[in-house]
Parts: sequence; C-alpha cells; structure tokens
Amino acid sequence: MPDVSAEPPTATGPLDPRALADFTTLRLGGPASQVQTAENSDQIVQMVRAAARDDAPAMILAGGSNVVIADAGVPGPVILVRSRGFEVVGSDDDHVVVRVAAGEPWDEFVAATVDAGWSGVECLSGIPGSAGATPIQNVGAYGQEVTETIVGVEVYDRLDDTVRRMAPDECRFAYRTSVFKHSDRWVVLSVDFRLAVDPRSAPVRYAELARALAVAPGERVPLAEARAAVRALRAGKGMVLDPADHDTWSVGSFFTNPVLDAGAFEFLRARAGGVGDPPSWPAAGGTVKVSAAWLIDKSGFTKGYGGRGGVAISGKHTLALTNRGQGSTAALLDLAREIRDGVHERFGATLHPEPVLVNCAL
Ligand SMILES: Cc1cc2nc3c(=O)[nH]c(=O)nc-3n(C[C@H](O)[C@H](O)[C@H](O)COP(=O)(O)OP(=O)(O)OC[C@H]3O[C@@H](n4cnc5c(N)ncnc54)[C@H](O)[C@@H]3O)c2cc1C
Repeated sequence: MPDVSAEPPTATGPLDPRALADFTTLRLGGPASQVQTAENSDQIVQMVRAAARDDAPAMILAGGSNVVIADAGVPGPVILVRSRGFEVVGSDDDHVVVRVAAGEPWDEFVAATVDAGWSGVECLSGIPGSAGATPIQNVGAYGQEVTETIVGVEVYDRLDDTVRRMAPDECRFAYRTSVFKHSDRWVVLSVDFRLAVDPRSAPVRYAELARALAVAPGERVPLAEARAAVRALRAGKGMVLDPADHDTWSVGSFFTNPVLDAGAFEFLRARAGGVGDPPSWPAAGGTVKVSAAWLIDKSGFTKGYGGRGGVAISGKHTLALTNRGQGSTAALLDLAREIRDGVHERFGATLHPEPVLVNCAL
C-alpha cells in the first residue's frame, strides 16, 4: 500500500485508467478515465485546460486524504498535483513570507518551518496531504488554522482562464471551509504563508496540548517541542498516517463539529440529560461548537463500532471512519449514514461530512 504521507504516488502515463484507491488515504475509490501527474504549476494549468477543451473537466487530486470517491470512480480525468518546493518571497524584521508549491507534502513543509525557526504552523504538524489543499478547508488542529498565516493563494481560475493571486478575504475562510471547498472553479497552484521569525511556538491555545507540554494555555514553547507534542497526541488517536495501521486508513475526522445557536445548544444539553454536558467551545457570532466525537460516542457508536463491509470506526478515535482493508465506499457511506441518523435521533443535532464526496453522497 502506498504511504501517502511520504512520497505521494504518481501515475505512470496519461492513458492509465488506475483505480483511484491507489491515491487515497482511505484506499477507496474506483477508476478514472485517465490519471495524469502534473509536476509543476505550468503542467497543472496545461492539463486542466486540455481537459476542458475535450469537454471532460478534470478532477484535482493531491494527497487524497480528504476525499471519499465513489466505487464507480469518476467519469473524467484526474490530475495528480505533484509540484514541489518552497521559497522565501518576502521578509521584514520579524516575519518571512514563504511561497509553497501546491503539491508540497504539508508535513514536510511544517517540519522545514520548525527547522528554520519560523513560527505559525507548528501545531498543524502531522496532518497528511498537500500544502495546496490546506486553503480548501482551512485546515486546522490543536488551536491553529491556516487562515491565521495565509496571505495569498495563487490560483488558476477555470472560469476566466487566468492565473492570479487571491487575497485572504476573497478566500472566505471559516471553520473547515472556504470559497474553494465545494467549487471546481479554482485550482490552487501555490500558497503564501506569513510566518514569524521566532524559535518559539505561537501561544499554545489548545488545553490538551498545553497539558501535554506542561505549560499554561497562552504560553509559548520551542517550535520542535510543540511539533513533537502534537505529533505524539495525533499518533495516539490514529491521526498520523501509518500504512500498517488500519485505524489511519481514513480521512481524519469524518464529520465536522456541529455549530449551534444558543437555543439549539440548550436543547441539545437538555437532551443529553444524564450523560453529562457535551464538550463545547464558543464560536463566531455567539454560536457554540459542539464535539462531534462526544455526540457520536454517547449515541452508542463507540471506538471500533461497525465491522460490516470491511469498514469501522477507528479503534483510537470516534470521529474517524476507517477501511479495515476490504472496505468499499458504499459500506463507508452506509456506516456514516447510520451514525449521522443515530446522532440526530439521540440529540437532535445534524452532523455534516468534512471530506469532499466525489460522485457519491451521504
Ligand atoms: C489521518 C488524517 C488526519 C487528518 N487530520 C486533519 C486535521 O487535523 N485537520 C484538518 O483540517 N484536516 C485533517 N485531515 C484531512 C486532510 O488531511 C486535509 O484536509 C488535507 O489538507 C487534504 O489535503 P490533500 O492534498 O490530501 O487533499 P485531497 O484529498 O487530494 O483533496 C481534497 C479536496 O481538495 C481539492 N484539492 C486538492 N488540491 C487542490 C488544489 N491544488 N487546487 C484545488 N483543489 C484541490 C480536491 O479536488 C478535493 O476536493 C486529516 C486526514 C487524515 C487522513
């Protein structure tokens, strides 16, 4: 099985109808009409343009760590984004702006920032996939989100047939989403991150991480310590890819945390009754973000639940739905529906999928 965390696999040729399962962390997904590998931005644009001319819009696939692709595959061609590299394109006394090619493996980039003494993405250590996909869902973990450091996104706009740079406010970043998330219009070619030149982490905001580092929330620690602590916490939850561990054959969290207004949150707390208060965090505009993992667990879907059709909830984290080796996308979606409906019945809250569903639906 390919290790998508390290060197992402490439396709052998332009007319190779390969199962897309070879290119996803779930190891699920049927064939495409073509799978092509683009090794730089120019090739990405040329391939997208050529597919459009043939009236067969291309699907963009990078690390394959946030997609659920139908067993039937996709009708058109797939372009694997494998552009690499990053460079400093700007600096002042205490910041650098680093431009990262879309296909650069995200965690390798984070490791390089930590080595260089650039602070701002260290808590996003261990997240699989590509740098170019991080704006798509405003990747976040352990108290950091890429919206805090992204200062520009270079895109190919399929509608206007132009390459341009989008400012952060055009990207409309929000919790696990952006203008890019459910649109094929833009192909990300590179991303600019503004990082502090500082050997210390950004203030540690996430309580669990602060505990692991034995510091108070708001304190800073050496970058390498933050990275190591995050990777250790993630590994314990099956959230660092390991080809030998089926608990990591997932898309990470399958559902986002529901964001409720005050009335809906009170209703949910009342429904929770004897099982205690759900873990929750204040969110934008007076709303409340509620732990989806808690809701799933308290609805009876505990770690390891499932097992039918070769899929199950991870043995390490309730939010990860995993392929145990013989799974199918159909079975995975069945399990997801059962969980979504069970949580709704128990708590009245609706769970929404975090990954992009390709040619299939929940
Ligand atoms: C074990 C595990 C843990 C995870 N933990 C986290 C986490 O903590 N936080 C988090 O936010 N996410 C997490 N994820 C989800 C995932 O890693 C991220 O969303 C990642 O950014 C996806 O990158 P990718 O290159 O694999 O994207 P892909 O899966 O290849 O693509 C995802 C979507 O983005 C589109 N896309 C990809 N690249 C481009 C591009 N260059 N231009 C335009 N569209 C593009 C694709 O068409 C698709 O719609 C986790 C996943 C796994 C498997």
